Amino acid sequence: MTHGLWAVGLRILHGSAGSNTWSGLASGPLSTVPRPTNLPEPAVEPGPYRARASVLKARKGAQSMAKTVHRKVVIVGSGPAGYTAAIYAARAMLEPMLIQGIQPGGQLTITTDVENYPGFADVIQGPWLMEQMQKQAEHVGTEIVTDTVVAVDLKQRPFRLECDSGDVYLADALIIATGAQARWLDLPSEQKFKGYGVSACATCDGYFYRNKEVIVIGGGNTAVEEALFLTNFASKVTVVHRRDHFRAEKILQDRLFKHPKIEVVWDSVLEDVTGSESPLKVGGVRLKNIKTGAVTERSVDGVFIAIGHQPSSELFAGQLQMKPSGYIVTAGHSTATSVPGVFAAGDVTDDIYRQAVTAAGQGCMAALEAEKFLAAHQHDRAAAE
Ligand code: NAP
Repeated sequence: MTHGLWAVGLRILHGSAGSNTWSGLASGPLSTVPRPTNLPEPAVEPGPYRARASVLKARKGAQSMAKTVHRKVVIVGSGPAGYTAAIYAARAMLEPMLIQGIQPGGQLTITTDVENYPGFADVIQGPWLMEQMQKQAEHVGTEIVTDTVVAVDLKQRPFRLECDSGDVYLADALIIATGAQARWLDLPSEQKFKGYGVSACATCDGYFYRNKEVIVIGGGNTAVEEALFLTNFASKVTVVHRRDHFRAEKILQDRLFKHPKIEVVWDSVLEDVTGSESPLKVGGVRLKNIKTGAVTERSVDGVFIAIGHQPSSELFAGQLQMKPSGYIVTAGHSTATSVPGVFAAGDVTDDIYRQAVTAAGQGCMAALEAEKFLAAHQHDRAAAE
């Protein structure tokens, strides 16, 4: 399979954490949903996330027609974590709303073959899998919103989410499943040629390199899968890795080492991307061997950066506890964040497993925990009346 199994949410499993395991908790009092004690308060005083002024300005005209909608559960993100949370929340009669974001379906929509998602004996396609998840979420009663959240206020209750359209969603419980996005090396030349021969998605751009030479930077599953995928088009694929061994799964490594079109350059980093100015186009790379210091130049037509991903959590900065790397911190074996009633699932919180199957499992957990949280609050309100 190609890289999809970890993006804006990817993971499944925990069929065993289904309703049987948890149903009894849904009606429990708040005391059965303890505030995680191992989470310090957010370092920064919570406050509404402010979108870029330009975005807000551009939206002003549309705001007179904007609507405000209040839901028990709002899910942000449409990868396996988001859709699985939606399926479970809908089946718990919570009438969830799922806001898809800028890339509906998440990272699996830019992948091809998926062969490690349980339940499918034959290879399936990432975009197809996400289409099925969306349909399943809709069939059981999820309302899907095609919009992007641009501002969040977790200080007020219900939580307030403002979308790019100007619409505002209020949520009693919030499930964050915004996933992750590709990382870049941040070389000036990489940025300069981005879209002109430098890419982070072989599935999207591989087709443009028929009978051409490309390099792939990285040594994880993504790099190896992208290299293998690129052999469908390119005449030669060179994988450049900063160590003398890959961290990719052995089965993928075996395929890579056996492939006649693939060469591996060990212990080396990309120093520079070179090319023509007019038209702007990649023509080569400068590589540096980090053991010997030797610098070599190679002619290539395309450079694929495959060095991992970073979580899409900026929207919640200052309002939720996060790791320095930006992953949202959750409590122990739970999706509870540092703000009660806010749950995080999938790649936005998981810097270890990052699989479609584990993201889906966390989405399931988040929905069950949201259900339990809401039931506890309902119980408290009823007791107070
Ligand atoms: P990853 O496993 O984090 O690997 C990133 C690779 O890029 C590592 O080899 C790393 O080198 C290298 N790297 C990082 N920063 C670099 C830099 N500045 N310069 C040069 N090299 C750099 O990321 P990934 O491959 O995208 O995979 C992410 C997760 O998704 C993993 O858990 C993976 O298993 C999963 N995934 C699964 C599948 C699948 O199930 N088929 C497919 C794709 C991804 P070092 O090794 O030296 O750290």
